[in-house]
Amino acid sequence: MREDINEKCAVVGIFGHEEASKLAYFSLHSLQHRGQEAAGISSSDGKKLHTIKDRGLVMRVFNEDKLETLSGSSAVGHTRYSTAGDDSILDAQPVFARYDLGEMAIVHNGNLTNAEEVRNQLIEKGAIFQTFMDTENLIHLIAKSSKNKLVDRIVDAVQKIEGAFSLVFLSRTKMFAMRDRFGFRPLSLGRLPNGGYIVASETCAFDLVGATFVRDVEPGELLIFEKDKAPQSIKVFEATPKHCIFEYVYFARPDSTVFGQSVYQMRKNMGKELSKIEPIEADVVIPVPDGGVPSAIGYSQASGIPYEMGIMRNHYIGRTFIEPTQEMRDLKVKMKLSPMIDVIKGKRVIVVDDSIVRGTTSRRIIRMLKEAGASEVHMRVSSPPTTDPCFYGVDTPSKDKLIAANMTNQEICDYIEADSLAYLDEDSLLRSVNSTVSEEKYCTACFTGKYIV
Ligand code: AMP
Repeated sequence: MREDINEKCAVVGIFGHEEASKLAYFSLHSLQHRGQEAAGISSSDGKKLHTIKDRGLVMRVFNEDKLETLSGSSAVGHTRYSTAGDDSILDAQPVFARYDLGEMAIVHNGNLTNAEEVRNQLIEKGAIFQTFMDTENLIHLIAKSSKNKLVDRIVDAVQKIEGAFSLVFLSRTKMFAMRDRFGFRPLSLGRLPNGGYIVASETCAFDLVGATFVRDVEPGELLIFEKDKAPQSIKVFEATPKHCIFEYVYFARPDSTVFGQSVYQMRKNMGKELSKIEPIEADVVIPVPDGGVPSAIGYSQASGIPYEMGIMRNHYIGRTFIEPTQEMRDLKVKMKLSPMIDVIKGKRVIVVDDSIVRGTTSRRIIRMLKEAGASEVHMRVSSPPTTDPCFYGVDTPSKDKLIAANMTNQEICDYIEADSLAYLDEDSLLRSVNSTVSEEKYCTACFTGKYIV
């Protein structure tokens, strides 16, 4: 696996709607937070698949004319986050292929942990790859399977892959949705107002297209969508849930219900738990927007310290192509975040963020708050120290770049120039999401190094 490719993505599938590609487009729009690098949709008109994908935001990649060409009553879509360079258009999804059974398109959220091994085996047998994506392995595994029906080939293929996958497959007449046995990444099933179906990474997509939530695709389950039939379910693997707790901490949108619980409520609970750890006297609680907002609200409600909007976020910066010079090195963060001086000046400030990864964001923010006149800045983090990289689909840097893997709390506090620093501990985090260590329903590897596969 190339180290600079990270799968931090969203998937959607629409089945049984005349404007399938438009609904996929709107769904992707609401899932944009899961990936801003590239977007794509494949649709099927029953005879042929049509695909459009490109770099950039969903709104940039598609327009009315393009969506018109994506005809048919089924569609799959994807937004991609990747840190790869110029070639990332090649790595955009859906992955499309023609093979002996016809045509297929695949969208994938998650990371396959045995991707390199499988790829090398395929290459030894003569396979040619066009991209660095682990998802391309699936195309080959399906094409090479000796089974006659696509559904059996999918079952065959997913038994050869390991790791995290929430997948949606589109053929000319059917759609399939599959989740790995651990259910690392979310995937939910909804009903469209006209009776068709939607599957999506997060339920916020359902709200936008007027769909009603039916249930989650179960870990290890394969759902088959066929014309004029209710979705058929095949249990491919025994479910052993290990949901990614970072979905609750940072990744998912607060208005989504993920793994059966409201993301907003989970984050507020984290803030509430956080307020009990090293409580401190202060004048205001402020969030680092947007990630820290729900937990700062929870912190404020539990502690009684007033919540204020102390940092303004500019939502329109996109990618900054002007690299700041040495003298202007803080320009980038200031373009995105600016202090509300009236709220901060002369105040003892508690600033809440969801996580510290490299520590650079916190350091810049605390400097900014001090420059704006804060008398004290206390950093509070609504998750435990991020000590280990994720191999299951969240974009985290390698261990040597994770500040908490290399410094003590006091050293981090000094580095970010805070007056105090406290993190949520593992027990409190699990309590916030209504779980316990012994229950082990969640993957906490990024905080504990306890990897499942
Ligand atoms: P850092 O400067 O590396 O410490 O970044 C910490 C900030 O990045 C926090 O404000 C988080 O909300 C945010 N963050 C955490 N995880 C991720 C991720 N996987 N991708 C992008 N941003 C993240």
